Amino acid sequence: MQNQSEKALRVSLIEVSQKLVVLGLNQGTSGNVSVRSYNQNGEAGFLITPSGIAADKLMPSDIVWMDFSGKAVGERSASSEWRFHLDILKNKPEVNAVVHTHSMFATTLSTFRRDMPAFHYMIALCGGDNIRCAPYALFGSQQLSDYALNALQDRKACLLANHGMIAVGESLGKALNITQEVETLCEQYLHALQVGEPYILSAQDMLEVQEKFKGYGVWTKKD
Ligand code: 13P
Ligand code: ZN
Repeated sequence: MQNQSEKALRVSLIEVSQKLVVLGLNQGTSGNVSVRSYNQNGEAGFLITPSGIAADKLMPSDIVWMDFSGKAVGERSASSEWRFHLDILKNKPEVNAVVHTHSMFATTLSTFRRDMPAFHYMIALCGGDNIRCAPYALFGSQQLSDYALNALQDRKACLLANHGMIAVGESLGKALNITQEVETLCEQYLHALQVGEPYILSAQDMLEVQEKFKGYGVWTKKD
């Protein structure tokens, strides 16, 4: 993905931002997306959606490039959440894309400020036996970024208390997929909580899932 030209990545960022709206995962100017990218001089950084512009209005020239010192290059202001995009991409070399949403079920669950336990085996998709909820901090603050990075330790997603969620991936497509899966898990967990406290899978159950995931979707061509 990093071999894609900067222009192609700008278009991909817009496509993903618009897909999030079509899928009902974002609305209005809520949420933001970034992707690792090198500028024309080969300097490391990332492309990020601008602040306060709805996805259907985005043009490639609205996308902002930023380096890892926070220096922005573009016609618009970078998303107000550039700090956590920067900190995640800087500290997690395996991650190339970051998606942030205010999707219905993740946001609803985030208002309870608690981690989502292994009530379903798909929790393992995010790298462990829970999906953490980062404590509340003001949107756009360094405090929020610090909390998010902590909640994302060994994980591909976290909730942000009274705010929404963050999902990360090796590519924009993979980060989008994690976003959809986490939103579905949040919806299922909220449904379950209306009936009572669901059974939670054991650490051993979850280790077995992690092990099985290593071969999942990996296939060899048979003659
Ligand atoms: P931006 O429009 O600045 O990206 O902010 C949206 C948001 O979700 C803030 O948390
Ligand atoms: Zn937000």
